[in-house]
Amino acid sequence: MWDLDESTGAIVDKFMIGLKRRNPGENEFHQAVYEVAGSVMPYILDHKQYRDAYILERMTEPDRVISFRVCWEDDKGHIRANRGYRVQFNNAIGPYKGGLRFHPSVNLSILKFLGFEQTFKNSLTTLPMGGGKGGSDFNPKGKSSREVMRFCQSFMATLYNHIGAKRDVPAGDIGVGGREIGYLFGQYKRLANEFTGVLTGKGLSYGGSLIRPEATGYGCVYFANEMMKHKGEDISGKVCVVSGSGNVAQFTVEKLLHLGAKPVSMSDSGGSIYDENGITEEKLAFIKDLKNNRRGRIKEYADKYGCQYLEGQRPWGIKCDAAFPCATQNEICGDDAQTLVNNGCRMVSEGANMPTDMPGVNVFMKAQILYAPSKAANAGGVATSGLEMTQNATALPWTREEVDQKLLGIMKNIHGQCVKYGESGSGVDYVKGANVAGFVKVADAMLAHGAV
Ligand code: GLU
Repeated sequence: MWDLDESTGAIVDKFMIGLKRRNPGENEFHQAVYEVAGSVMPYILDHKQYRDAYILERMTEPDRVISFRVCWEDDKGHIRANRGYRVQFNNAIGPYKGGLRFHPSVNLSILKFLGFEQTFKNSLTTLPMGGGKGGSDFNPKGKSSREVMRFCQSFMATLYNHIGAKRDVPAGDIGVGGREIGYLFGQYKRLANEFTGVLTGKGLSYGGSLIRPEATGYGCVYFANEMMKHKGEDISGKVCVVSGSGNVAQFTVEKLLHLGAKPVSMSDSGGSIYDENGITEEKLAFIKDLKNNRRGRIKEYADKYGCQYLEGQRPWGIKCDAAFPCATQNEICGDDAQTLVNNGCRMVSEGANMPTDMPGVNVFMKAQILYAPSKAANAGGVATSGLEMTQNATALPWTREEVDQKLLGIMKNIHGQCVKYGESGSGVDYVKGANVAGFVKVADAMLAHGAV
């Protein structure tokens, strides 16, 4: 039990010592928990029911971690082995829900941080979804579609035992898009001999939802616009720096264009493009074809449109009004954040999961810019997965407009929850707002369920 005479900071530090001892070497997981603990600890200390129930210790321990070998055969006939995972983090408010990531960097720390974040994010959507995450260290880059298919089939041959429409509903994340979801769904259907909404992000012809591909990027921009509107402004005319060039980045740029903003950059692991004239709808169509069909490098954009290519660099040195990190975790460090602020950036809306490291977050907080953490800003993706689950359960698909309106409504609602728990005299602390709002719903459900 905590000593309530100690300062909140000292209590958080003690809590973190225990967490690190129980989860050695899992730096990304430590980082995600630390950010949440800093925000929710004062709230917990003020509420005896949470203190007495040992709630934060319980919430930071995943319900279950599944790890398995995935064997598959490559095109040369060689047998390959990867590691697969599913972290079922918390199902207090609904079935486990969260994406699968295929990337060589995938390890338990990364999936635990993602599963933990997902629990809070899903709570914020107001839909009945618990938190989970999974994936593999399989690298899809350079693999043929047949190799990807064989990998997905083998991965699902084990994952199949642990998921289900009412148990755990995976979706995509980095390295898992429409193609992979199709192969995973096909294998699940074959093994279960059942057609159910066991995955989201499905193709339209077999139970997918309109707007799901667009949802994370669109939602991230809707959230940014809500933050600006709360201050009496809007996003139109703003120069925006976007990182990444995958699904989230593409639809972030698309929605920025719809709302009259000026996106000037995108990036991949090779470098960034800086298009001072702005990325247009036509140029975005080129990026989509390059990345989704030809699986090429973003440098081709710079060659084709004659703009700057910043080899090996992220786009944070580019002067902008707003930044949308949409690539991956820890892509903005303290120095990057300082550069953005010094160059006049006044808003950050995170499309990727935890793209800003702790020193970076501190820079944004100190500068008092509008800073939307990923669990709020990118919740539109999983929220629309929730809408896909509802459509599957009722067998009634909605129109594009209906889904988009619901998505916008959900992002406004998340913004409202952040304001409710994060507003003070000096403005809205979106980190605190998102963490406390996400926490309360899950914590109350856990209290109601007793010590399980
Ligand atoms: N991977 C996405 C996320 O980080 C979406 C998960 C889902 O739709 O289940 O929220």
